[in-house]
Amino acid sequence: MFNHCEECALSTLEFNNISEFPTPIYTIEQIIIDHDFDIVIIPTLTKSGIFDKTLFVPHLPDAEFRVSLAHELGHIILHEFFIHSAQSEARADAFAAYFLMPSEHFEEHAPAMTKYDLSEFYGVPVNFINKRMELSIDLIQ
Ligand SMILES: [Zn+2]
Repeated sequence: MFNHCEECALSTLEFNNISEFPTPIYTIEQIIIDHDFDIVIIPTLTKSGIFDKTLFVPHLPDAEFRVSLAHELGHIILHEFFIHSAQSEARADAFAAYFLMPSEHFEEHAPAMTKYDLSEFYGVPVNFINKRMELSIDLIQ
């Protein structure tokens, strides 16, 4: 269902030579900037979003911030930043999950670790680990 999102996430990782976990926040910011988008942090925002060529993000703890940036990068890479449908949100989430936790790596580590360890390891909130596990259905126990 999200094969295209996974392919796009993997090619973005490869193209940018990312093999470090958690994926550094500045690396995600740089990829967004390389796509000609500006990033503006607004502490009072409750939700991130793209308007024109600017990405607006709330001030968040690192784990949530990393996921928000990866989600918005998904909209940019999938060319869906102008669409606001449940499907495009699900696709941006899938992109973010595959981008921050690529299958080969995740499927090797997930069986031996708790969700809390995985959350620490990949620098994402525990609920995002659940989301990632839904994409690798075999790993759900
Ligand atoms: Zn979105």
